Amino acid sequence: MLSEQLDQLVEDALGSFKAATNSKSLYDAKVKYLGKSGKFTEILKGLGKLSKEERPAAGKLVNEKKKELEEAYSQILSNLETAELNKKIEGDFFNFSFPGSSEAQIGSRHPIGLVIEEMISILSRLGFAVRTGPHIESDEKNFSKLNFPKDHPARDMQDTFYIGKDHVLRTHTSPIQIRTMETEPPPLRILAPGSVFRCDSDISHSPNFYQVEGLYVDKKVSMAHLKGIIGFFVREFFGEKTKTRFRPSYFPFTEPSAEVDCTCPICKGKGCRTCSNSGWIEIGGCGLVHPNVLSSCGLDTDKWQGLAFGFGVERMAMIKFGISDIRLFNENLVNFSNQFNGAL
Ligand SMILES: [Zn+2]
Repeated sequence: MLSEQLDQLVEDALGSFKAATNSKSLYDAKVKYLGKSGKFTEILKGLGKLSKEERPAAGKLVNEKKKELEEAYSQILSNLETAELNKKIEGDFFNFSFPGSSEAQIGSRHPIGLVIEEMISILSRLGFAVRTGPHIESDEKNFSKLNFPKDHPARDMQDTFYIGKDHVLRTHTSPIQIRTMETEPPPLRILAPGSVFRCDSDISHSPNFYQVEGLYVDKKVSMAHLKGIIGFFVREFFGEKTKTRFRPSYFPFTEPSAEVDCTCPICKGKGCRTCSNSGWIEIGGCGLVHPNVLSSCGLDTDKWQGLAFGFGVERMAMIKFGISDIRLFNENLVNFSNQFNGAL
């Protein structure tokens, strides 16, 4: 009697589940049969009227049927939802090639990349072309061929990361100059941009920073050419009124050597915090290539002379944009980089 009643109920319920055309009407049908005041609950409540002996078997049967119906419901629901989703996707409502409603966040060029590009762009107008080289260099190309004799105290000028006995993380991009002179015949006009490494870290020094170096090898090269090239570069980079001066200095690979100062682009030479009130700011080093360097690359020093110069890219960017801490370049903050969009 109970079992017949249950079978009829399951049949009716399945009928209305299958008749449901969407998940909403399916849910309504579920509530009608399996909900708190649904027909199954009514039957379960009615079990109280049965005798004590009949009750366990009847309860078990009702629960079995209920479970059967719940499983059927889940299956039908899943089919309906899939069909509904497919309909949405196929219909005109969804267009997957349409742009999203929120504005996309656009990334930003890093100021170091922008400055390197600008430096190359200016110097390429004087005929300089880019050459590159590896970060790990032989001691020979990083030091010996650049006139740093073994055990020479000049090697202490650059705190070096050694890799074994004979290799280093390049401390400057000058080995690129060596590589070029060894493989390409003069006359040469090349730029060596890239990252370099030194054991040094504070507010104005980073263990990994960027340089752009220039090398010019030709006949009868003089300090006048060097002043001309650097003056042109500085005026193009910092502004047409920027003046340049050379101070005598020492580097193993150039003779004579000079440090390059320019009038402070921030105060225009009047004196400010950045230039320590001097009106001048140091931006790089330069000189005529030491004959030992030319001959170490097989060049005849009676015939060929060279000039070379080098700038720290971070320093150029800090002066140009008024950035006070070199570590900002390595912190990967998009808010930092965003400020330089369109600046160069
Ligand atoms: Zn100043």
